[in-house]
Amino acid sequence: MDNILRLAVQKSGRLSEGSMKLIRSCGINVSNGIGKLKAKAANFPIEFFFLRDDDIPGYVADGVADIGIVGENVIVEKGKPVNSVHKLGFSKCRLSIALEKSVEYTGPNDLDGMSIATSYPNLLGRFLEDNKINASVHEISGSVEIAPSIGLAKAVCDIVSSGSTLFTNGLKEVETIFYSEAVMIANKQLSTEKQDILDKLLFRIKSLQQAKNSKYILLNAPEENVDEVIAQLPGMRSPTVLPLAQKGWVSVHSVINENDFWEKIEDLKAAGAEGILVVPIEKMIL
Ligand code: ATP
Ligand code: MG
Repeated sequence: MDNILRLAVQKSGRLSEGSMKLIRSCGINVSNGIGKLKAKAANFPIEFFFLRDDDIPGYVADGVADIGIVGENVIVEKGKPVNSVHKLGFSKCRLSIALEKSVEYTGPNDLDGMSIATSYPNLLGRFLEDNKINASVHEISGSVEIAPSIGLAKAVCDIVSSGSTLFTNGLKEVETIFYSEAVMIANKQLSTEKQDILDKLLFRIKSLQQAKNSKYILLNAPEENVDEVIAQLPGMRSPTVLPLAQKGWVSVHSVINENDFWEKIEDLKAAGAEGILVVPIEKMIL
């Protein structure tokens, strides 16, 4: 079956929504009914397997699935031989060590001799080894944050995003040992046909990612100031300048990075720009 790419995504959890949203934004129609374990896209040669996230690297390494979407934390923790092909920019989080608020912390050496509960024994083990810390690691598969309050361990090493779960459990974050986001992984020996399908999918994903940080800008300016205005707006190749019906005025269109917009606006206004519109771009092919 070389004409269809099998994609493993998380069935339900913190990666699921982002993964399916990304796929749908690529124009791929798929219905993932509740309880369904497999689905085929209607308009793209791709088949979905809905799995526990922990199993995704193994399935991709073994070739049961061709590609997968999974957190970097799980990829590194599992250590399966897969290719990480593209970062996807969602499910951003970090793996951190946390202690009860009342416990004093001055640096990694304070962890020496402690017991630490985690679902990430390999990533934690690597940190402890790098810092030459002798701690006992308790591997548990979930609800890590309650370990100190039930007396299972003195410290925890768990996934954090806002820190609110730690806070509600009376814990403070003391060391960050890994940063993660969702990544597209692939089997190391994809056939040429499957690689072609993956390349098409990645092309669509990259077009979306490029568009996300860019905005289309339109403004009116006096013709005599046009050089000053376009100096602020480099555009993809160069800005479009069109005459307005009113003599002596032009309309300038360009693409800008969203982060630059507020810095440029003063200079644009000083150059006489008015009627400035900034609109989102859905897809961008460079
Ligand atoms: P499963 O049942 O599939 O095994 P899980 O409970 O192990 O799911 P989730 O909590 O759904 O895993 O998290 C999946 C992945 O999402 C994590 O491995 C991590 O990469 C990322 N993640 C976890 N927590 C957060 C968060 N609070 N914010 C953003 N991303 C997160
Ligand atoms: Mg899991």
